[in-house]
Amino acid sequence: MTLLLAVAAVAALAALVAWWRVRRLRTAESSAHATALAALKVRHNEELAGHQRRLETLLDSMVDGLIVLDTRGRIALSNRAAETLFGFSRQMVGCTLLEAVRHHEVAALVTRLGAEAAILDHELRLEGLQPCVLQVNAIGLHDAAGTGTGAMLVFHDLTRLRELEGARQEFVANVSHELRTPLSLIKSAAETLLDGTKSDPAALDRLLAIIDRHADRLTLLIDDLLLLAQLDSGRLVLHPQPAPVRAAVQEVFDDLAKRAQAREVRLENAIPDGLTAKVDSDRLRQVLSNLVDNGIKYGRPGGSLTVSAGAKAGGWLEVCVRDDGPGIPPEALARVFERFYRVDKARSREQGGTGLGLAIVKHAVQAHGGEVRVESELGQGAAFYFTLPAA
Ligand code: ADP
Repeated sequence: MTLLLAVAAVAALAALVAWWRVRRLRTAESSAHATALAALKVRHNEELAGHQRRLETLLDSMVDGLIVLDTRGRIALSNRAAETLFGFSRQMVGCTLLEAVRHHEVAALVTRLGAEAAILDHELRLEGLQPCVLQVNAIGLHDAAGTGTGAMLVFHDLTRLRELEGARQEFVANVSHELRTPLSLIKSAAETLLDGTKSDPAALDRLLAIIDRHADRLTLLIDDLLLLAQLDSGRLVLHPQPAPVRAAVQEVFDDLAKRAQAREVRLENAIPDGLTAKVDSDRLRQVLSNLVDNGIKYGRPGGSLTVSAGAKAGGWLEVCVRDDGPGIPPEALARVFERFYRVDKARSREQGGTGLGLAIVKHAVQAHGGEVRVESELGQGAAFYFTLPAA
């Protein structure tokens, strides 16, 4: 009996030991499993955060604005361009579209998406501190089963394009007007001649002189337009060579000596000897010629015009063409380099100006990497400055 009890006790002990071993093994296994699971979870979360960051970087680098809405019409995703356009922050994720963009027209587009699959090329004007024109594309989103999952709005900024279109239209209108004026004068002189004025020698001379003068004006205008178009498009090939600036100014003075004499304007070349620019000499002559011609035309009859220059830091020269005429009104200073801008239209036309001289100056100087500016006070003359690379 005692033996039997002892055997049972040993067997029970052995079973206990075996159970304890299995339990210990299981506990070790499950704790290893839990550790592996936790590590996997951490890695998964890190990967998810990495994906999220990459997606945000990608969307934020887009030029177009993007807003994604969930099925309840709340913001699920937005990028920096959209936030800047409408002035909301990323904290607005979860808010309604109207709360974030505060624009009923945009919200109305999303409402329309219920009936339409997509609304493309919708033009939207934003007023405010920085008014802009946007092209909006609103698209309904669906999963593989065709169930609606929300909507996506893409905003493309058309402001610059619209400005360029406006400038192009204005330019075409200006060119047409500039061409029409001399053409109609030529036409009416020719008609008068055809009507029989040929027999009157004085009238004949006068009418032929009108035709000649305005044909010259048309040629000048077309030459200036072509040059400007070439400079503007970068099609004009420059041949920069070391050019002595004093000699270039002297050549221009010689060319314009008659005009200066007619208005009794004294021309002074104050450029020091030995100052050499690395420029296309034709363009330099053109720049100087336009500025000196303007100084003679718009300066004071009996006054003086001085061209001076000096070296500037960084390997540049600065040339200044200064007159002592009536000067330019402050509100016109920022505009004189625009095509066809004139302070006094009648005066410019009477002097044979095309309204393109300073625009050509600006583009020719910029083609060499230089800059132009003007300083003037009413009654104190005008000073045009431009920089050129030194040789
Ligand atoms: P334009 O063919 O009319 O001379 P520009 O482009 O050369 O065209 O000049 C634009 C306008 O700038 C001129 O019409 C004139 O009103 C003004 N302007 C240019 N140079 C001077 C100057 N030296 N003094 C006063 N006004 C000037």
